[in-house]
Amino acid sequence: MSHLCPVCGYDGLEAPPYDAKGNPSHEICSCCGFEFGYDDQSQGDSFSDYRKKWLAEGAKWFDPACKPENWSLKEQLKRIGIQR
Ligand SMILES: [Zn+2]
Repeated sequence: MSHLCPVCGYDGLEAPPYDAKGNPSHEICSCCGFEFGYDDQSQGDSFSDYRKKWLAEGAKWFDPACKPENWSLKEQLKRIGIQR
């Protein structure tokens, strides 16, 4: 079972970003590189701020090995309701 990243829409997270009590998974998204429990608190970045920065830097994959062959940034962002 995979989970959706609320920052970039990647659906390959191994754990839910936050559990029922709101505890972060500390997983790093293979796509946008957001770390749940770190980037959201320590640096004060909201999802949208981080997303903006990530997109501005060219939407690079944190772990390019995880990138699907026919990957579409547009389709992925649609999953979290973002139209570009
Ligand atoms: Zn992500």
